[in-house]
Amino acid sequence: MTTGREAGDTLPADQDTQQGRTSTEVREEAKSVEFTYRGIFQKTLAANLCKHVVMAARKRDWLGSTIQRYSDSPERNGIPAKQFAVIAPDTETLEGHMAKYEPNELDVITCLDDTMADGIESWAWYGRQPINVRLRRGGTLLVISNRSKEELLRVIPQKPWDWTLAILPGTPSLAGLWVYRDDGTDMRVLGAIASARPDIFEMSEIESVIRDDDALGDDYIAALKSGHDEVQTHEIAAGAGAEDTYEPVKLPGYKEMREAIIVPAVKVGEKNPNYRSSSDRTMRPVVNFDTCIKCRQCWIDCPDECFDITDEELHPINYNYCTGCGICAQVCPVEDCIVMVNDLEFVEEGDKDMFPLYKEDRDSYQEWREEKIEKGRIQHHDYFNADTWAWAGSGQAENTPDRNDRTARNS
Ligand code: SF4
Ligand code: SF4
Repeated sequence: MTTGREAGDTLPADQDTQQGRTSTEVREEAKSVEFTYRGIFQKTLAANLCKHVVMAARKRDWLGSTIQRYSDSPERNGIPAKQFAVIAPDTETLEGHMAKYEPNELDVITCLDDTMADGIESWAWYGRQPINVRLRRGGTLLVISNRSKEELLRVIPQKPWDWTLAILPGTPSLAGLWVYRDDGTDMRVLGAIASARPDIFEMSEIESVIRDDDALGDDYIAALKSGHDEVQTHEIAAGAGAEDTYEPVKLPGYKEMREAIIVPAVKVGEKNPNYRSSSDRTMRPVVNFDTCIKCRQCWIDCPDECFDITDEELHPINYNYCTGCGICAQVCPVEDCIVMVNDLEFVEEGDKDMFPLYKEDRDSYQEWREEKIEKGRIQHHDYFNADTWAWAGSGQAENTPDRNDRTARNS
């Protein structure tokens, strides 16, 4: 079987073009909606969304079903995962579209955290794929973000056909964090889908579903309407967006797989290559080596052993292993010595180690560090990423400050 852009594809990469690919703007058959979410944190949110897509389809006498696909087992904190809702006018069509592990082409892809817009390892650590890898011709990518179209297109790869970018103002919700925190995000996203893609469901259909549910009151309708009214849609031409440099993912055959549950020991100072991470990080720590008192607290407490020790006894971070948990910033006793910054601010750097820059030119390093903090500081005390609650009922979108004013919003 040939390997396409994602594991399981049957189309070779060189046929992934407007001419060669079979993508069509099928609007009257089955429709598939993907919710890309952060494992654990947004699991319940994604499940709620899928459920409501199917229930809205019932309002027009369509059928639907949902499937969840883990990228890792067990689902780790923050790891990108996907849940799909497939709807169709009749049983036969639905069964035809469900008889596969996941839909080949998506009418709508919803990215519930914009820090995944620059690609996700949706098959564990076997490589990143574009966030829009399976977006069909004429499809819609809906992203929850306070960033502009231009900023998002710096990281979202181009497609060989026209598509639509829909942006729902907001920050990532942690609505699925073990106990479901009902912050209105599901309603806002549903309202946004109704606005951007009424062929999936009309506003009246999803509103009727919500009104039928005695547990959901007027606040939910208000959140639904706010999502409907606030989403911004942009037509994106073929070829617009970031250059697509992603390598096709190749999953190992069963002979190549390592035995499960065996964690090989590593020597002191080495890292376990099987624990590499990257797209499961929403934020990353940035260190001020000038104010560091060399107490080693970060080195001791980092659960992923990301900190190295240099000859100067400073502690640079190996971002290849950092999951962005924020523990180091919480335990560091020096104010602002470690600051958590939105991971989407590091598109140019990738996982590059910045300590060599510090060694070479301290002023340049500090300039770089201050610029990153100014643009993307995330305050995370008390709760993980606590600034990100986005309850639409409080007029969140209206009150959403400029993202560069993040410090003020968090204080
Ligand atoms: S955020 Fe800090 S503590 Fe958490 S994995 Fe990254 S370096 Fe380690
Ligand atoms: S916890 Fe802070 S002060 Fe202590 S070694 Fe780490 S960065 Fe330096």
